Amino acid sequence: MRKTVRMALFLLVTAVLAAGCDAAAPAAGGAPPDPAQLVRRVPTHDRVVFLTIDDGTAQDPEFVRLMRELRTPFTMFLTDSMAGSHYRYFDPLHALGNKVQNHTVTHARLTKLSYEGQRAEICGQQGILEQEFGERPTLLRPPGGRYDATTLRAAADCGLPTVVLWSASMQPKGLRYGSADHRLHPGDIILFHFFTPYELHGTTLSAATRTLMRTIAEQGLSVARLEDYLPS
Ligand SMILES: [Zn+2]
Repeated sequence: MRKTVRMALFLLVTAVLAAGCDAAAPAAGGAPPDPAQLVRRVPTHDRVVFLTIDDGTAQDPEFVRLMRELRTPFTMFLTDSMAGSHYRYFDPLHALGNKVQNHTVTHARLTKLSYEGQRAEICGQQGILEQEFGERPTLLRPPGGRYDATTLRAAADCGLPTVVLWSASMQPKGLRYGSADHRLHPGDIILFHFFTPYELHGTTLSAATRTLMRTIAEQGLSVARLEDYLPS
């Protein structure tokens, strides 16, 4: 479906839901699922960390070549309004075994939305990503890491058992640690973005990725696939 048509449909559905349509009710005969589980860091003694890359704005062919070479596992959290015009860029990254996960339709601030609004953002992107990549996501990353109890409920109702935040973040200038000792620890989830050249201030996505990989290796850690450590 063309992106503009899809966005128009999304806005229409959102408007209908906001008007009070009861589309949020659980399926007939089924109890609502437990709220999604929130994860900031994976409890593990394995000397591994996890790489997550968000939004999907930039398309850097060199990054695809690099990840083919390194074979480092990572998870992509894609937003339709940022990645939707070029989903096919992510196909070779997906073909390497890297999962495409849910980062909402419009990168909305979920905590400002009603249950129906949150559900439209989350369930809407579930359907889009399943159509585009042939797999239904199992993880949600709320934009900006902003979530509330409604988010956990809406995520579960959209078929997502886990909401993933992060415990360290890779910025264009280097790694920002979440722990006071300024080191990575087993189970850390690292937030990274498909940064645009403008956001990278003269470096490239590939160069920033190489820097990150070196930092991880220097601390005696390797990168594992997040989905292998979380419920599906
Ligand atoms: Zn984001």
